Amino acid sequence: MHDMQEEARLDALYRLNLLDTAPSESFDRITRMASQIFGLPIAAVSLTDRDRQWFKSRVGVSHWSIPREKAPCAQVAESAATVLIPDLLEDSCYRTSNLAAQGVRFYAGASLTTREGYSLGALCVLGTEPREATALEMNALDDLAKMVMAQIELQHAFGRLDPLSGLPNRTQFLEDLADLGRDRPGERRLAMLVDLARHEQLDNGLRVMGAAFLDQIVREAARTITGALGRDRTAYHVAATQFAFLAPPEVDEQAYLASLVEILGRFANRSGDRFIMATSIGVAPFVAGETTPSAVLRTAHSAAQDARGSPSMVSIYSQAADSLHQRRFRLLSDFGKALAAKDQLSLAYQPRIDLATRRCVGAEALIRWRHPQLGEISPAEFIPVVEQTALANPMTGWVLDTALEQLARWQKAGIDLCLSINISATNLKDPGFAQQVQLLLLKHRVRAQSVELEVTESAIMEDVAGASAQLGVLVEAGLQVAIDDFGTGHSSLAYLQKLPGNILKIDQSFVGDMVRGDREQTLIRSMITLAHDLGYRVVGEGVERVEMHDWLVAMGCDEAQGYLYGRPMSPEALCGWLESDRSDQFGSCAAAA
Ligand code: C2E
Ligand code: CA
Ligand code: CA
Repeated sequence: MHDMQEEARLDALYRLNLLDTAPSESFDRITRMASQIFGLPIAAVSLTDRDRQWFKSRVGVSHWSIPREKAPCAQVAESAATVLIPDLLEDSCYRTSNLAAQGVRFYAGASLTTREGYSLGALCVLGTEPREATALEMNALDDLAKMVMAQIELQHAFGRLDPLSGLPNRTQFLEDLADLGRDRPGERRLAMLVDLARHEQLDNGLRVMGAAFLDQIVREAARTITGALGRDRTAYHVAATQFAFLAPPEVDEQAYLASLVEILGRFANRSGDRFIMATSIGVAPFVAGETTPSAVLRTAHSAAQDARGSPSMVSIYSQAADSLHQRRFRLLSDFGKALAAKDQLSLAYQPRIDLATRRCVGAEALIRWRHPQLGEISPAEFIPVVEQTALANPMTGWVLDTALEQLARWQKAGIDLCLSINISATNLKDPGFAQQVQLLLLKHRVRAQSVELEVTESAIMEDVAGASAQLGVLVEAGLQVAIDDFGTGHSSLAYLQKLPGNILKIDQSFVGDMVRGDREQTLIRSMITLAHDLGYRVVGEGVERVEMHDWLVAMGCDEAQGYLYGRPMSPEALCGWLESDRSDQFGSCAAAA
């Protein structure tokens, strides 16, 4: 048999995913019938793999497969024709076969032929005596072989259609992409992924309106998409609330993207007022036969996520955005492990200076992450990712626990510091947060007055009322609250009056800009004056040079932090720094490190 033809035949067999699957009664029934019609003890549905005959169904045989070599079923598969051997011992080829050696004399096999004309193997009957077969018997064998094929196709289709929408599913999509790669290699195409709604929206919808309602939405969406695509293009249902389809070959990309916006419009009209969905479409350009099917699906999915940030809700896949996502995704999943592993995370402490007395009055705890493979990861990279997830709470929990434990050690050693701890917007949304902080203070026997929580202006602005209430409880309990990165958010100064904080940290970008000239200095000076008028103490961040320090002093700024005084450092290093720099002020560090 021609090699290429055999490869195509094997490919057809493999794509059916039949080999090495469990036996099934629907095949066994047919096999039994074949054995009864011939009155013979042995019958099998025998599939011809590269070098074995594997039995999907068998009667009177104890093993699951036999070698392909000199197996009559292989001849059936190779010729796609019926084979009848009245006596194996009389046959020049099969006389020396394994079967003959085991006492088999009679063989009849009908081809299991697919619609495309590939033979997968045979439905066969075997006997231990030589015999003839009547035309009636052979016709029955052929009919039964066709029934086996119908059963195979039926099972295959079942695994390929989504029962809810009736559309071909993800498996079918991937398979059709693979076929496209074979049939039209090198062709440039666009794959689209329609993502019906954000996870939270679906969760809410499910909770409020129930699963049946969600099913109805998915069914409607399927109709909308098939309606938009027309009869000759296929829509696939690739995940519970995701659909995919291909653009026709050689479309004008820009015009096509515009038409997608129109398709999205149909969804907007349908979602109604009971359930708000933010449906987005991701577009993945790919080259048939070069981009793997799963990569097409994954990139289209990534583009659909990006689309949520675009006003049109349609986005074309970009390599750069994708590798960023992949890195973020990795950091996020690995951060969960880091929290459990404990030895990857640590805290560095950066001193804070009182500008009037020039003494160190406090330190800010800053998280550090040494990733086992990627090395040091900057908090500026992973905090914004973690902050948006449920991991924000365990992260802050770990920081608080570790920082307060250190503070307790310092206090025991007679080192009097106020420790600043950064918290996220997500923490403030957790109704148990204020209580958690108070419990940790008790656990480590640390006075609330020695702890300051830093919250960014934008974190408070996300939910002013909620954040103020939560921070109010903490201020009541005696903690300090600082507004971090002040000037970078969009709050109006009028808000400052209402916030529970009593310390304001001017963002380092303003401090750095002072060197540029008068305007920049005037800006800081007025920030400081205004903050003072409202009763805040002011901290300048990012002081790197002596001029900056001098200006801040001249402007009446209260405290400062920056590389000029000290970088973030380990607790041991901070002790050394305190002793060498301020030996007059502090007790012994040796006991506290
Ligand atoms: P941040 O709260 O504004 O912290 C100050 C950042 O500025 C720190 O960066 C610090 O190392 C850096 N810095 C201090 N002095 C200077 C200076 O003179 N010049 C310059 N160029 N930089 C200076 P770091 O440690 O990389 O932290 C970055 C951000 O990550 C922090 O900004 C904070 O928003 C966040 N972060 C760090 N640790 C935690 C944490 O434990 N929890 C939370 N929620 N966020 C944290
Ligand atoms: Ca901070
Ligand atoms: Ca800051």
